[in-house]
Amino acid sequence: CGIVGYIGSSNARNIIIEGLEKLEYRGYDSAGITLYNLSSNLFNIYKDIGRVSTLSKTTHNILSNIGIGHTRWATHGKVNAVNAHPHQSSSGRYIIVHNGVIENFKQLKNQYLKNHTFISETDTEVIAHLIDSFSTIMDVEKSIVSTLNLLQGSYALLIIDNKDPNTIYAAKNKPPLIIGKDEEGVTITSDILALAGYAKTYHVLADKTFVVSQKDSVKLYDYDLNEIQVQFEEFNFDI
Ligand code: GLU
Repeated sequence: CGIVGYIGSSNARNIIIEGLEKLEYRGYDSAGITLYNLSSNLFNIYKDIGRVSTLSKTTHNILSNIGIGHTRWATHGKVNAVNAHPHQSSSGRYIIVHNGVIENFKQLKNQYLKNHTFISETDTEVIAHLIDSFSTIMDVEKSIVSTLNLLQGSYALLIIDNKDPNTIYAAKNKPPLIIGKDEEGVTITSDILALAGYAKTYHVLADKTFVVSQKDSVKLYDYDLNEIQVQFEEFNFDI
């Protein structure tokens, strides 16, 4: 299972699909992607059980500058297209991909989302719904960290707000998440292999870091929204 997100001036679809292909060795049962389609100016979601090569064919002519992709290793909910990632909040506003397990998702549903209808059987969908419900009273960044502060378990997470096609949000606790940068843009992924060719510098995120990334800026925060300064290292792996 794995995650690849990209924002920048290169073709997001190519970088994400190629990255997901490099991550196939980790094993997975489904694959999905959301891409901001520069002809329709909309985020479209493509997901299904099976191979990244299928996703590659379905999306081959899409021109996009931002997107997030996922390979799923099902832990909660059957292997089917509905349970494949990305998942969305009910309003459609937030689109997320997640690797890991949210251990308290049932409690969170009961406590905060009693009258919400869930489309999938995953633990993941609760994250999108929580962010959306907080964002009726808070700004996006506050809504995301308020949600992160409630989550117990493991996650590498990428989040898109479809009202803002210029930003990818990310966070992680336990599974790896790595940021790579070059002059063209920013790639965020679970695996350094997916950065080959797309990073001049990189940074391995520490647990409980929240990331706000645009094509030419990456900001890191703790879950109280205090900014964290980190050093990006030179990317000189021969992979
Ligand atoms: N727990 C999530 C699910 O079952 C994510 C699984 C994964 O890490 O791919 O959909």
